[in-house]
Amino acid sequence: KKLNSAQVRRMYLDFFIQHGHKEMPSRSLVPVDDPTLLWINSGVATMKKYFDGKVVPDNPRMTSSQKSIRTNDIENVGKTARHHTMFEMLGNFSVGDYFKKEVIPWAWELLTSDEWFGFDPEKLYVTYYPKDHDAYNYWRAAGVPENHLIQNKDNFWDIGQGPSGPDTEIFYDRGQEMNNVAEDDPENYPGGENERYLEIWNIVFSQFNHTPEDTYEPLPHKNIDTGMGLERVVSIFENAPTNFETDLFMPLIKQTETFSQNKQYGQNAADDVQFKIIADHIRTITFAIGDGALPSNMGRGYVIRRLLRRAVVTGKKLGIDEPFLAKMVPTVGEIMKDYYPDVLENADYIASVIKSEEERFSTTLNGGLNLLNNVIDDAKQNGTNEIDGKTAFKLYDTYGFPIELTKEYASDEGLTVDQSGFEAAMTEQQNRARNARDIDNGMGVQTDVWTDFTEPSKYVGYHQLSVENAKII
Ligand code: ATP
Ligand code: MG
Ligand code: MG
Ligand code: MG
Repeated sequence: KKLNSAQVRRMYLDFFIQHGHKEMPSRSLVPVDDPTLLWINSGVATMKKYFDGKVVPDNPRMTSSQKSIRTNDIENVGKTARHHTMFEMLGNFSVGDYFKKEVIPWAWELLTSDEWFGFDPEKLYVTYYPKDHDAYNYWRAAGVPENHLIQNKDNFWDIGQGPSGPDTEIFYDRGQEMNNVAEDDPENYPGGENERYLEIWNIVFSQFNHTPEDTYEPLPHKNIDTGMGLERVVSIFENAPTNFETDLFMPLIKQTETFSQNKQYGQNAADDVQFKIIADHIRTITFAIGDGALPSNMGRGYVIRRLLRRAVVTGKKLGIDEPFLAKMVPTVGEIMKDYYPDVLENADYIASVIKSEEERFSTTLNGGLNLLNNVIDDAKQNGTNEIDGKTAFKLYDTYGFPIELTKEYASDEGLTVDQSGFEAAMTEQQNRARNARDIDNGMGVQTDVWTDFTEPSKYVGYHQLSVENAKII
């Protein structure tokens, strides 16, 4: 069966509408009334108020295709076949309504029925929590062969306190020829670190309350929350080697080719990673700005700035010397207009924000790259494999290179960056600024510490210090 991205999205939503769900819109990437979250990172993140009982939904069954940003996957982009900084999560939700008995046969029907996705059941594998006998039994009853059902003790969703429970994940076997590890590699199983078994869907059975006393009490109202990666499923329908060779990304890659002096996609694996990074990042930046975020030095704005500057430096590696990102905004809009018509409508505004940020960075970019390349050469000659913290700070402070950008660039050359040295240089500058403020009572230093719950199932202890006047130009 061949379906494009718009058709896959529509089919998923229609399936659950037929089963009594209400279609909810894709909400803004910027969380509303939720200071614990930097970005919406899953479908369920937009539904907290229903799941914690603060608001009663008019229909306890809901379905959505939710745009989501995950900063913890930035490093994965282009390197794995399946990770993006922004992706769409298809989901169906039950707020105290249906549970395992209903959702498991539905999932199997959607995936394998010829009327719906029509995937070959032989290619599908399901993992489940070892003690979750109910899940096992319902999957067997739905028709999953015993040797495609795999126990995994990681299939438990728990954030420490509050609702928790087992989950079950569905993997698509893309075949050993797609793999990056050997057939007999210990990681070569559904759920392991490999490129063969593609995780497409996670279904969470939230059935316990994890108490402060560390016990698990059954919840009176059990909930279902699920997440399926649209781009991954589309890659299956379009028979693509990665998420990128699909209608969601190829027009962006093709456009990038026109900016590059001499590089083409599909000629060289290292260049292809750069094409993918640009296609991924321009999509995220476009949507984030469309949802009202702006490049800055803190929090969300810093993420946009970091992605944008990384895309610019990545463009350099493909021989792109002119500002180019703003020109890609209409392409993003065209690709996504079926479900997100507002992007195309706001394309001029979004492009103008990107253009001025690109121009601002271009004034220091070459100076920064010269410095960086020189230090890298020096380090290599001296046989050290680390860039010192002072230089990293200078790149940040004078040339507008986010520390992560310096690290990525260095790591491509086999070097690391002295992070604590960087932080020390940053603190030193803060102290200087603070002293100066004490004396002249001028504009002070603002420190913003945010915490990013980047994944629904895991707390990623990711703290970031940002300083308003430690200027990224
Ligand atoms: P992975 O193990 O591949 O990183 P995950 O287990 O972190 O995925 P979940 O938190 O279970 O992902 O999210 C639900 C679904 O959303 C996944 O099964 C996958 O299809 C999709 N997904 C998650 N992260 C990404 C991403 N960075 N890019 C694209 N799709 C994603
Ligand atoms: Mg992940
Ligand atoms: Mg996973
Ligand atoms: Mg998962």
